[in-house]
Amino acid sequence: MTFVTRFAPSPTGYLHRGHAYSALTAFEAARAAGGRFLLRIEDIDATRCRPEYDAAILEDLAWLGLRWEEPVRRQSEHLTDFETAIAGLRDRGLVYRCFKTRKEIDIGRAPHAPAVAYVGAPLDAREEAERLALAEPFAWRLSLAAAHKALDGFDHLTFVEEGVDGSSPRTVQARPETAGDIVLARKDVGVAYHLAVVHDDALQGVTHVIRGEDLFEATHIQRLLQALLDLPTPVYRHHGLLTGADGKRYAKRDKAQTLRELRATGVGAQDLRAELGFS
Ligand code: GLU
Repeated sequence: MTFVTRFAPSPTGYLHRGHAYSALTAFEAARAAGGRFLLRIEDIDATRCRPEYDAAILEDLAWLGLRWEEPVRRQSEHLTDFETAIAGLRDRGLVYRCFKTRKEIDIGRAPHAPAVAYVGAPLDAREEAERLALAEPFAWRLSLAAAHKALDGFDHLTFVEEGVDGSSPRTVQARPETAGDIVLARKDVGVAYHLAVVHDDALQGVTHVIRGEDLFEATHIQRLLQALLDLPTPVYRHHGLLTGADGKRYAKRDKAQTLRELRATGVGAQDLRAELGFS
């Protein structure tokens, strides 16, 4: 089996050191395995993604010495693929319309308390028809209860986490219930991250998902979606996140740490690669 991995950034800002580390980790893993490396642009959120960031991603990664297969898949060009997948789930009674606003869902939550996993239920047919007639916007949510029934429980859902160097694989029991009834199709976009990522990893034949450990928790619900959509489960390698001198992880808001800023101040690609632990 050929090793296939990818780097899948969202063009909502310029890439920073943390992205460089993630992209290099995936790229070098593909090289070490004699495999393939893909770049996928996750640009479903038209309000936050910008073409100039998309162009900058390609430029910055090329500067860093990365090469990827063409054509690059851009999720915004394939929205109907995702709609088809959601329609399939809908036909099987696994999703329901949710008209609630974020505010309605958050009622009773203290201002800084973490968002709780939302678990809802379909509206009764009459109320739903009324709201549809009024053209009220709605999201499609996955019904965990229906999924649990369809799959005869979640106990058999596991995934393999190899750790960053692949030296200590362990089997993880997926706990999708911790995520709640996630949104599969947003009110505004028609799809949401979890569905798009699972769909595209399978479509592109990704065998190894290599990404930051901030997405480890997301794997639980993504594993459930793979089961529901009858898609293969890749092997996962979640790497630690880089932190700055202040101990905080890099974020898109840290302007001084973007690859373009570093480049402008005279840092060479080779210097940065070495600093991040790559030759
Ligand atoms: N597009 C996601 C992000 O930029 C990453 C998706 C993934 O690697 O699974 O955070």
